[in-house]
Amino acid sequence: MRICRFNGNSIGLVEGDTVVDVTAALRALPAVSYPCPRHDLMIAHLDALRPAIEQAAASGQRMPVADLKLDSPIGNPGKLVAAPVNYTKHLEEVREQADLHHQNQAHMRQIQETGLFLMATSSLIGPGEPVRIRMPDRRNDHEIELAVVIARQANNVKAADALDYVAGYTIGLDMTVRGPEERSLRKSLDTFSVLGPWLVTADELPDPGNLAFELKVNGEVRQSANTADLVLSVPDLIEFASRFYTLHPGDVIYTGTPDGVGPVKAGDVMHARFEGIGEMTVRVENAA
Ligand code: MN
Repeated sequence: MRICRFNGNSIGLVEGDTVVDVTAALRALPAVSYPCPRHDLMIAHLDALRPAIEQAAASGQRMPVADLKLDSPIGNPGKLVAAPVNYTKHLEEVREQADLHHQNQAHMRQIQETGLFLMATSSLIGPGEPVRIRMPDRRNDHEIELAVVIARQANNVKAADALDYVAGYTIGLDMTVRGPEERSLRKSLDTFSVLGPWLVTADELPDPGNLAFELKVNGEVRQSANTADLVLSVPDLIEFASRFYTLHPGDVIYTGTPDGVGPVKAGDVMHARFEGIGEMTVRVENAA
């Protein structure tokens, strides 16, 4: 199943170039009251929602996907977990560009030592919204990454079992402003965490470990890699993260970016493509 969120509060089932409005299926969700759960309600109940989504699809309005403003496929993630350098060639690139990374020794170490970090959920957008640069005087970089969405509570999960805890996959763009501050701050600017174009449920992508992907800026290929080259694979990352904290339904793991990271500026157009998921175009503007 490919599920998108669009036009603010609608849910769609993606079928080729068409989206079927299945928002009616959300009526099957339990009512919540304050304080709301700190996880994503739709992802937590995705298996139970499937029949309602299929039923709604039978009579739902059909629209070309190109006509919709796509939002982040995950509405309320509790955590945006991110892997730092998780491709060997990108680690070499970071070490070669030490000045760009302000000689931050933590950025030069391997992920097994550095661990993971978090990005603010307020930085999250979908491809229907532009990335907005707040600091145009600094370098602002793109990073394309496989984003993993957690299906259910995962605490001390072993890698061998980890894929049972995955709801699905989507494309992540982890935007970064360069500078001396903590990484989590420089990646948490409003609009700097992009997810899209939709969620591909895990049953459609049984092996996340061999997906080719590419990021173009203004038509020029900047990053081109395969998830086979991840240092810590998707199951490894779930094991690593869940040793430190419980992962909850809708939590997102940005799995790290390959080499080819480079700057964008207002007016640029990023085009991300991921085997097994799809493609999306994201514009870059300056913040007002
Ligand atoms: Mn990243």
